Amino acid sequence: MYDAVVIGAGHNGLAAAVHLSAKGWKVAVVEQAAEPGGAVKTREVTLPGFRHDLYAMNLGLFAGSPFLAAYRDALTKHGLAFVDAADRFATAFPDDTWLGVSQDLDATAQRIAVFSPADGQRWRTMVSEFAADAPHIFGLLGSPMPSWGIVRALWKAYRARGAAWLGDTARLMMSSARTFLDANFQSDKLKAMMAAWGMHLDFPPDMAGGALFAYLESMAEQSFGIALGKGGADTIIRAMANCLAAQGGELHLGTAVERIEISDGRANAVRLADGRVLEARRAVIANVHPKLIFGKLLTADSKRTAFDRRILSFRSGPGTMMIHLALSSLPDWRAGEALQRFSYVHLAPSLEAMAQVYTEAMGGLLPNQPVLVVGQPTAIDPSRAPERRHILWVQVRVLPAKVRGDAAESISGTNWDEIKETYADRVIEQIERYAPGLAANILGRAVLSPLDLERDNPNLIGGDSLSGSHHLDQSFLFRPLAGWSRYKTPVNGLYLCGAATWPGAGVSAGSGFMLGKMLAGRA
Ligand SMILES: Cc1cc2nc3c(=O)[nH]c(=O)nc-3n(C[C@H](O)[C@H](O)[C@H](O)COP(=O)(O)OP(=O)(O)OC[C@H]3O[C@@H](n4cnc5c(N)ncnc54)[C@H](O)[C@@H]3O)c2cc1C
Repeated sequence: MYDAVVIGAGHNGLAAAVHLSAKGWKVAVVEQAAEPGGAVKTREVTLPGFRHDLYAMNLGLFAGSPFLAAYRDALTKHGLAFVDAADRFATAFPDDTWLGVSQDLDATAQRIAVFSPADGQRWRTMVSEFAADAPHIFGLLGSPMPSWGIVRALWKAYRARGAAWLGDTARLMMSSARTFLDANFQSDKLKAMMAAWGMHLDFPPDMAGGALFAYLESMAEQSFGIALGKGGADTIIRAMANCLAAQGGELHLGTAVERIEISDGRANAVRLADGRVLEARRAVIANVHPKLIFGKLLTADSKRTAFDRRILSFRSGPGTMMIHLALSSLPDWRAGEALQRFSYVHLAPSLEAMAQVYTEAMGGLLPNQPVLVVGQPTAIDPSRAPERRHILWVQVRVLPAKVRGDAAESISGTNWDEIKETYADRVIEQIERYAPGLAANILGRAVLSPLDLERDNPNLIGGDSLSGSHHLDQSFLFRPLAGWSRYKTPVNGLYLCGAATWPGAGVSAGSGFMLGKMLAGRA
């Protein structure tokens, strides 16, 4: 008999388990995959010695998280290590120019000023204001929603920054990226560079709510940096799993939970695919997409009909594809060798291009020229590849889960298993236009389609990297549903955590840690 059984060893489930076991709870974590981590995994998928972050690569959220602040010593003892990138993110443009954000504020502002001196100045002002704003914004994003913590964070922000700041911040949260960027900057290139962050989620430039990510990611990367896991993003998973084991917690791998058992109206056990039943005295915690919990793991209950109908209509975001390359050398960027130093190079040249890609994908079409996030981890952390060799992490944003056709009208198939390699060829050709010679430098390649993502991790329904669209009607108080944003469910003893719950997608350990604290008290 355990105090808590956690379903799913994603980083949120592990964060909850680490906290509960540190508080003396007897905890078991059950994971269907052969290894823990969910959307945070590092593996040699191309050639021996080339370690690829299969999914998440940027651990900036985790590095700045309250969970890490609470468990830094324990996790460091169990091997956690980061590397920081001095050159953070950039965009390469088709006219062979580029713009990028580096740790060095002067260097960034000077680059921006080449396109617009006024924007260079505005960037500096925004960064200096962000230093005062960040604690308040992260105070809001790091509290359960709703909670007294949110009220306290709002009160503190009001006292420190005034009512007008609160109003402006609320307006920012509801604005589209384009509205925000047009109000602040002149250069279309700077606007494109910042708006690309919205596409990491599912915010094309004109979607309400997208301004926050264009603003926050740009300012946070400038001010706090991009953190990569030393040797791979899985450093956080190994550290959490080892920490859990050291605290007496158990991790059961390679066996799915097939059923959540309820007796006397309370979730009190889980049934595993291998036939075992694990009993949970105080809580069953599901780090699982709510559609899977209420659609598959629980038996229907007439008392839950209305809730189940609402939760089963929780919307997925668009799909994504990952292309991992083992390379003999980094891309030879036409825009300048300096781009080889950056963690991320976005190929998302304009707001119009991003809007078009989103429209194509949502209409079921393979985008003609998708938005690409080209990650260059070995530029920052050479330990991930053999000497003088490199890897490339290419995320294709955004794609249809179910393909109806091709915007370029050259791919006729609609089955991801059949078309993924051909579509990956299109992506490589697209990068080639910015970095000629790339194809000749490829030593190995692994392509993960939206379907492959879901096969590895059922939470990524249709290859949705967010585990649920982040549009305003599914964010904040509405994640996953209005009235259920504090991790409880209509089933007593059953709690949710993970990307489908507040504060949503990203490697922040936010929901797992907040739920852990709600159940067992503060760290
Ligand atoms: C391609 C990609 C790139 C990304 N890049 C970044 C990035 O650079 N930075 C960033 O911050 N975020 C990134 N994200 C988002 C981030 O990785 C996720 O939001 C986050 O990892 C989700 O964590 P989680 O704890 O909610 O659950 P998940 O990581 O989804 O893990 C859930 C676990 O539950 C398991 N599970 C599900 N059902 C069952 C069951 N019935 N029984 C047992 N186990 C079960 C799954 O196998 C999985 O291991 C990316 C995501 C993807 C897909």
